[in-house]
Amino acid sequence: MVKHGFDLDGVLGTSLIEMYSKCGSIECALAVFRAIDRKKLGHWTAIIVGLGMHGMADQVLELFLEMRKNGMHPHDILCRAGCLDEAKNVIESMHMKPNKVIWMSLLGGARNHGNVEVGDYAARHLIDVSPDTVGCYVLLSNMYAAADKWEKVSQVREMMRKRGVKKDPGCSSIEHRGVLHEFIVGEKSHPRTKDIYSKLTEMREKLKSVGHVPDTSQVLLCLEEEKEKEAELENHSERLAIAYGLINLEPGSPIRIIKNLRVCNDCHSVTKLLSSIYDREIIVRDNSRFHHFRNGSCSCKDFW
Ligand SMILES: [Zn+2]
Ligand SMILES: [Zn+2]
Repeated sequence: MVKHGFDLDGVLGTSLIEMYSKCGSIECALAVFRAIDRKKLGHWTAIIVGLGMHGMADQVLELFLEMRKNGMHPHDILCRAGCLDEAKNVIESMHMKPNKVIWMSLLGGARNHGNVEVGDYAARHLIDVSPDTVGCYVLLSNMYAAADKWEKVSQVREMMRKRGVKKDPGCSSIEHRGVLHEFIVGEKSHPRTKDIYSKLTEMREKLKSVGHVPDTSQVLLCLEEEKEKEAELENHSERLAIAYGLINLEPGSPIRIIKNLRVCNDCHSVTKLLSSIYDREIIVRDNSRFHHFRNGSCSCKDFW
């Protein structure tokens, strides 16, 4: 097609991308996409949906960033502030059935912008296409919690219980001298617990001194007091592992952590800050990607 000089800039390009994605050749779809000189919204949407269909979440995010760099804003389905309803419309008008990645993105966007209505819509579809994904329920539940809709939070829990979906407790591990140390959220049984918690106190002070305000909007528990919510965040498993790493690893060596769940927003901003406060590279592999924290920023550019 490209060789024969067909004009891919218009609808033809979009249809080809869709066709190739649907018949399983995402490479061809990408080749068509790359060959288009003046990419329009339809082209971007088609390739992003195609990559989503093929479960290529990392490339989806890369393309979103590229799309934004190219000045494509309005219907960005990764959901910029205020565009969520448009995003919803774009998804509804797609020729292909949106998959888990697309709904997850919409839900994530809705959560970040506190749009409960769109979040609710996305979550219901997400649960339809992927009823066993714990992450969907957790995102939905967190979103309700942030909006103070505690009744809805318990409905989500009830739904999880009925369907036998279990939320694993957050767990992070770090290796030191050939031994794997595992920390569960709120852990107090590690032999170095005392040192770890005093390190956490030191971390809290340092974070405060650089102006960090804990983002308690995503604390899952129904805690009344702001102080309790902050304490809950502070005990997230990756922070215990980071504290352990700061105490025990050679100065200057990177701290590598593996976490079973998605890193929460507050831990993400805290880890960015810690990487510059302690001048340490911190690498966290959570259940969706690697985060390389260095000099106060993260390789995921806050998309995860
Ligand atoms: Zn956290
Ligand atoms: Zn990150």
